[in-house]
Amino acid sequence: MVQTRIKDVLAVAGLVKRYGDLTAVDGVSFHIRGGETFGLLGPNGAGKTTIISMVAGLIPASAGTVSVAGRDMTPTETAAKRNIGLVPQDLAIYPDLTARENLKFFGRLQGLTGKELTGRCNEVLDLIGLSDRAGDLTKKYSGGMKRRLNIGIGLLHRPTLLILDEPTVGVDPQSRNAILESVEKLSVEGMAVLYTTHYMEEAERLCDRIAILDEGRIKAEGTREQLIRLTGGVDRIKLHGGGNTARAADALRGLPAVQQVDSDGAGLVLTVSDGPTALAGIVTGAGDAGMSVTSVEIVRPDLESVFLHLTGKALRD
Ligand code: ATP
Repeated sequence: MVQTRIKDVLAVAGLVKRYGDLTAVDGVSFHIRGGETFGLLGPNGAGKTTIISMVAGLIPASAGTVSVAGRDMTPTETAAKRNIGLVPQDLAIYPDLTARENLKFFGRLQGLTGKELTGRCNEVLDLIGLSDRAGDLTKKYSGGMKRRLNIGIGLLHRPTLLILDEPTVGVDPQSRNAILESVEKLSVEGMAVLYTTHYMEEAERLCDRIAILDEGRIKAEGTREQLIRLTGGVDRIKLHGGGNTARAADALRGLPAVQQVDSDGAGLVLTVSDGPTALAGIVTGAGDAGMSVTSVEIVRPDLESVFLHLTGKALRD
């Protein structure tokens, strides 16, 4: 029995998956509470799909345990599975049915009937932003609309845990935004969401906590701010311009927030501990020392920097 803390919807402990000699998932543990969106962020092949397949009870784990709403999950377990809505990467919708007909079909499979089925279909169409296109055949939908309908199908039975496997892969930016907006609404409704992605912008926008996954292991886990602190949390300020940049560099080195000053072709690059707070003093100091500043840029660390710091690799291929 996995130890489940109060309000944990999902508790994963020591999860392992071996395929022959390959250990695809190597001792992964995390938990998600109701109303929380938890991200698994990692590159292709990191083990994200394998983890969610074990969480959803689709494949057996080689070791470790999964508990959903207090029930242990195994491939033969049915009660725990009822708490889960799984939205796989592959679309599972009928192209020759409308969105509403698709939802009704899948709703009936899940045991919904009559007014309850109609009402739930309307709620879900609203949540995924497809109410005005509900009567169109889905073969006429854009890739992003099909993805949203796929999410809607996973929501019909009001799961306590929704699992989304890279739902925005291959969709255009506008559709991606619509998908992200739908996901944002879910945690407001109190659902626990497990979200896998290799896009750090999505993890930053959606997830309350993020696990950085590489080669089957969680390298670090926490809020965006906690993870960024692991890199040392320093910002870079780029001062573009001309004039007496050498004198400005010397003057700026004397400011308490400034850790390092380098020059590049366009001006100066500073490493500072709290960029936004230090900015005004830096611009004034540079001007007083004879530099004519034409533009300023603050570069703050992001999850990409965290991934690089933890693994020595870039998150993107
Ligand atoms: P992607 O974003 O590409 O789907 P992922 O992070 O979801 O990547 P997984 O699909 O979980 O990664 O794969 C993790 C590792 O396990 C990979 O090296 C993959 O080749 C391997 N793997 C996955 N499924 C199997 C399988 N059925 N048999 C053998 N190896 C597998």
